[in-house]
Amino acid sequence: MRNYNPTKRILVTGGSGFLGSHLCDRLIEQGHDVLCVDNFFTGTKHNIEHLLHHPRFELMRHDVTFPLFVEVDEIYNLACPASPIHYQHDPVQTTKTSVHGAINMLGLAKRLRAKILQASTSEVYGDPEVHPQPESYWGKVNTIGIRSCYDEGKRCAETLFFDYQRQHQLRIKVVRIFNTYGPRMHPNDGRVVSNFIMQALRGEDITIYGDGSQTRSFCYVDDLLEAMIRAMNTSDDFNGPVNIGNPVEFTMLQLAQLVIDLTGSKSKLVFNPLPSDDPKQRRPDISLAKQVLDGWEPRVNLAEGLVKTIEYFSNQV
Ligand code: NAD
Ligand code: UDP
Repeated sequence: MRNYNPTKRILVTGGSGFLGSHLCDRLIEQGHDVLCVDNFFTGTKHNIEHLLHHPRFELMRHDVTFPLFVEVDEIYNLACPASPIHYQHDPVQTTKTSVHGAINMLGLAKRLRAKILQASTSEVYGDPEVHPQPESYWGKVNTIGIRSCYDEGKRCAETLFFDYQRQHQLRIKVVRIFNTYGPRMHPNDGRVVSNFIMQALRGEDITIYGDGSQTRSFCYVDDLLEAMIRAMNTSDDFNGPVNIGNPVEFTMLQLAQLVIDLTGSKSKLVFNPLPSDDPKQRRPDISLAKQVLDGWEPRVNLAEGLVKTIEYFSNQV
């Protein structure tokens, strides 16, 4: 499984974002040539500035909704804003990024006969009625709500990936990522982990949406990246989709309390309205991942991961 050519040319779209920049780091460490493509909508050069002078790293400003002509062996397609605030800022562009972006990257992969991985999401399950969520669950997604631009865009991208596989025999991998956190998240991206940590560090009120009983399962970035790279390197007959995430589930109240304890903050909890279509519960069933990703499972528990993330954000306050 890990028997792959160490000198591949690898394209990472969304490579200057949170997950993409860590992926670029890992691929460079593994000896690959990395082409990072990003339009800097939510990503920043700061995330990859330590790579800018590396001889095997190249950065290209480009919007994946337009065709791209480059020569590579593998493509990780991560370009897409991931935080609700960011993807709802320009919802039409969000759908275009997922759908046109997938068409353009799949077209590129087809021309090059390159292997391509899609960073899909637990959002394809919507507000799930099956818990925890296995890959076989088709989801409960609103087609016309404020999250639909992201959810339906990602669902359509999955469809495109599987149609390119069936129609053009493309080598595809689809991973469904559950809430992931860690250093290099945007401090103001509105996601719950970054919000709570920044609020705690600044001594501001911690904003709980709804009554805080909704759940999420948080995966530390290192665990996620290990699974993503293993997924890319599974045998050609495995396409996915495969869930990757940490199956330990927390309420938002529990998360807030943990952040307060770890930061020693005096922040108080305040309760704000729950945004519409906010999923009530989310936890990945990772049985398939364990089976196909060489026994992979998350190693970093939430408290350990939060300590590292708090350290990173402490320098941003
Ligand atoms: P992020 O917002 O930090 O990174 C996304 C990157 O894509 C940014 O660098 C952004 O500038 C770039 N981008 C956006 N639109 C683009 C376009 N049209 N052309 C080129 N680049 C574009 O988010 P992230 O958390 O690193 O997420 C990366 C990927 O993983 C996304 O596809 C996201 O949907 C998926 N994902 C992430 C999570 C998570 O919890 N972090 C969960 C599920 C899925
Ligand atoms: N959330 C919250 N306070 C915040 C930000 C988010 O209570 O300041 C809640 C949000 O309503 C959701 C959960 O935390 O139920 C996770 O939100 P996030 O935006 O991080 O991700 P997603 O909803 O996409 O899983």
